[in-house]
Amino acid sequence: MLEVHHSFYILIAMTTRPILSVVVPVYNEGSGIQTFHANLIKELKPLVGDNYEVVYCNDGSSDDTLDKLSLIAQKNKKCIVIALSRNYGKELALAAGIAEAKGEAVVLIDGDGQHPISALPTFYKAWQDGGQVIVGRRSLKDTESATKKLTSKLFYASYNILTGNKLDRSATDYRLLDREVVDAYLHFSESDRLNRFLIDWLGFDRRSVPITRDTRIAGDTKFTFTALARLALNTLVSSSSRPLHLFLALGACIALGSFILGISVGVEQVLLGDPLGWNFTGTALLGILLLFLVGILLIAQGVNSLYVAATYREAKQRPLYVINKRYSSNLHEEK
Ligand code: UDP
Ligand code: MG
Repeated sequence: MLEVHHSFYILIAMTTRPILSVVVPVYNEGSGIQTFHANLIKELKPLVGDNYEVVYCNDGSSDDTLDKLSLIAQKNKKCIVIALSRNYGKELALAAGIAEAKGEAVVLIDGDGQHPISALPTFYKAWQDGGQVIVGRRSLKDTESATKKLTSKLFYASYNILTGNKLDRSATDYRLLDREVVDAYLHFSESDRLNRFLIDWLGFDRRSVPITRDTRIAGDTKFTFTALARLALNTLVSSSSRPLHLFLALGACIALGSFILGISVGVEQVLLGDPLGWNFTGTALLGILLLFLVGILLIAQGVNSLYVAATYREAKQRPLYVINKRYSSNLHEEK
């Protein structure tokens, strides 16, 4: 009996799953959120009729955003608002929204109007064509300020050099994820996260659609320089241990170099009586010894950090692998 009940509920859950969920993280967007919402609904209706859901995640706004959102939810049953207990930052707000979304496909979009809502049909089409991760790719000559452009260029370049990963500067956070991808994403448990990076890590069938970033409907960017710098450092540390290897290599070079120098000076000067006339003083010899010891210390520290890095990797408890689809022996696809 319990079994029957259970499958009955599963059936209900399946039939009520909306086709499209739209997840919107919002922080102090009170002045533009109603316009955003109206534009969004206008685009969703012709696409999937009533088969949508909008999940607003209020990231501890201090303005009237939450009041406006609760009004929106009152008027439209298909809107869900989750309010976080405080400001956690966009990445975790997105994570909370994704966990709430029930759609067959989940769209992640900024609530400030900078991600063009009019591109939704293109994302949807790419998903229907079989794509599982659809990434909005912007042209790099759009409206950003010169300083923002410079800092983002700097971040991506140093990130890619230091980690050996390839984060693409033109790939935005405006994305559509298939249910399969969302279920896999939900296994991540780390709190230092850059969703873009995690989604890239997951793989799946990736496609991209071109978008042009619009200007904000209202308000200002929520990211200060320090917030961005913190995000950049956290991302670096949580996604690669290559910087540690650099110090290890540096230590090895210094130790090896000074070792060779020390031996040659010892042989040339002490054993052979300085036939080449190098004439190293005692202080210079001390310098070589010091250099050697610094090299050894750097190596020791580097080895030490490798263990720390390994512990850290494990402590994150990332899923080991992710299954996309399953096929049974009679070749019918099972989900
Ligand atoms: N946002 C958020 N929490 C924050 C900062 C931003 O939920 O702590 C939201 C914000 O409301 C917007 C999106 O994340 O919907 C992108 O933020 P913003 O426009 O400030 O970033 P930018 O476009 O400058 O990268
Ligand atoms: Mg923005």
